[in-house]
Amino acid sequence: MVNLSKELENAKTIGISGHIRPDGDCIGSVMGLFLYIKNSKPDATVRAFLEEPADIFDCIKEVEEIENAENVDEEFDIFFCLDCDKTRLGAAEHLFDAAKTTINIDHHVSNPGCGDYNYIVPKASSTCELIFDLLDKKYIDKDIAMALYIGIIHDTGVMQYSNTSPKTLRIVADLVEYGFDFPRLIDETFYEKSLLQTQISAKVMADCKLFLNGKVAFGKVDYETMQSMGLKSYDLDGIVNQLRLIKGVEASVFMYGLENGDNKVSLRSRSYVDVAKICQNFKGGGHVRAAGCTVSMDAESALKEILKLIEEQI
Ligand code: 5GP
Ligand code: MN
Repeated sequence: MVNLSKELENAKTIGISGHIRPDGDCIGSVMGLFLYIKNSKPDATVRAFLEEPADIFDCIKEVEEIENAENVDEEFDIFFCLDCDKTRLGAAEHLFDAAKTTINIDHHVSNPGCGDYNYIVPKASSTCELIFDLLDKKYIDKDIAMALYIGIIHDTGVMQYSNTSPKTLRIVADLVEYGFDFPRLIDETFYEKSLLQTQISAKVMADCKLFLNGKVAFGKVDYETMQSMGLKSYDLDGIVNQLRLIKGVEASVFMYGLENGDNKVSLRSRSYVDVAKICQNFKGGGHVRAAGCTVSMDAESALKEILKLIEEQI
């Protein structure tokens, strides 16, 4: 475990970043730690670097302070890599490489740890859960609690997925003590979808196909559709989970096309297929029940290879 107070003691400049295409846990952990350092070390400079978060995260205090790392050139005393290893930091990777001390906090089983200090706990529900563990509770306020709570609900599917442990629920209990409006947060950041999101989801569901005797559901959005409907990657969040919920399905595969012809793949499973293992074949990673990768193949060839790997586990 990293002793956060000790590491932060002499730091004057602190940078924090997380993975490309940031999700709720990534944004929640980056912002939770950012706000915490502001509270606990008012004399230090702390900066947060991520790709632009989706609008649903506007409710997080100071989320507008998040910067694009591209043109930033600074040697931070401490740099945090949250919810990923450094290869997925995108534009912030050079800041991690240049920092005097680096700290990696993550819960991905595929991450061996890339920092001077590593706190990697694959059985933790989320990076937000790990951040909560490390914080000196006297500096936590309602805004920090809310940011961490958002990360936990997103990575656990509102405390439902199998990564939810009794410890997760105890942390959630501690967080809701701070008195934010959690039913509204769950609706507005997790379940609510725009009309466009609802329409693309309906289109994928209408065209989805089943394989391996109905045990695998597959859906996709090609790049032309991304363009013509004006879709961003976060507009597709949740579709792979919906595919997984089709009766009889053990694993779901969802893909969308990228500008360069590659496909971004998401995999989910219900109870026994290890999808992290499958994604590692394509230099991706994630968790046993939720993982992803990017493949330099057309959707049809990628599906063929993935089905072969799933079949080996069924
Ligand atoms: P999603 O399918 O929602 O993109 O990702 C599911 C999980 O797998 C998340 O925890 C995400 O961070 C991880 N993941 C997705 N894509 C990749 C990838 O290309 N490489 C690695 N290492 N992890 C990924
Ligand atoms: Mn996460």
